[in-house]
Amino acid sequence: MRVKTAQKWFEKICSALNDCELKLQKIPRVGTKPVGGHCDGTVIAIRNRPDKENIELTLIHEALHYLYPDWTEKKVKTKSKYLLTEFTTNHLKGLRAYLRRQ
Ligand SMILES: [Zn+2]
Repeated sequence: MRVKTAQKWFEKICSALNDCELKLQKIPRVGTKPVGGHCDGTVIAIRNRPDKENIELTLIHEALHYLYPDWTEKKVKTKSKYLLTEFTTNHLKGLRAYLRRQ
């Protein structure tokens, strides 16, 4: 992926996170099932892990669900993992800033 493309994706993810209400929860659930995060309309719930393990990946993943509601879970997983590897340290810092905002 070219640097410019990664930047475009970063901006897309940020605009999604700006559109949504971000909620840090101890254990987000879909029904009774505990999950790392989920996107319900314009609400993105993220598991507030003390070690913040994979929190950037979860943010990207849920933002993609918001942006592309018709994508399959598999497509969202693949794309979010790919974007995580393409994003720069500054991009990841920028994403983590959203967690402090709410
Ligand atoms: Zn998902």
